[in-house]
Amino acid sequence: MRGHVPVESGRSFRVASPPANALVTRELASELEHVLEKFSLEAGFDERHPVSVYFNPGIFGHHRVGRAADIYGVGGIGIGEWKARWDRARQGIRETQERREREAIATAERKRNLGWRLYKSHQIHGRWAQPYGFPIQLFGPWTREEGPWKYISDRMLRAHRDHIHVAK
Ligand SMILES: [Zn+2]
Repeated sequence: MRGHVPVESGRSFRVASPPANALVTRELASELEHVLEKFSLEAGFDERHPVSVYFNPGIFGHHRVGRAADIYGVGGIGIGEWKARWDRARQGIRETQERREREAIATAERKRNLGWRLYKSHQIHGRWAQPYGFPIQLFGPWTREEGPWKYISDRMLRAHRDHIHVAK
C-alpha cells in the first residue's frame, strides 16, 4: 500500500512478524509503537530483554486503508493461548474456597499474562478510532470482560478470539 509504513521495533519490544504483515498509516504506526513501548516497559522488558510481538495482515474494513492492525502473538505465545490461560486461571479462582488464595491466583495471572496485559495497555494508553455510531475500535478476546465495548456481539467476539484489533 503506497504511503504506508511497517510498525517498527522499539527499545523494549521487537516486531517478529514480516513488515508486510502490518503496513499501516504513519499515524497508526506511531500510536502502536507508543502503546507497545509503554506495555513492554510496564511488563518489565528492556533493551537487553525485549518482548516480541507478532502481527498478521487483516482484510476487512479499516485494514483495507491501512488504518487497522491485528496483533496475533506476544512473548512468543498466541493471543488465543493467552486467553485460554486466562480462562483456566479464572476457573481456578472459582474453584478456590479461600479468599486470600483466590486473590493470589488473580494477582499472579494479571502479572504473567502478557496477552491480557497487552490488551489493557491498548485500552489505557491507546487513542483509537471511534467512527460516528460505532464503538471504540479496540477488539479482542477480553472485550466483553474488560471493555471498552462490553456489549460486543457473540459473532464479533468469536471473530477476535485469537487476536487484538485496533484502528486509528
Ligand atoms: Zn483486524
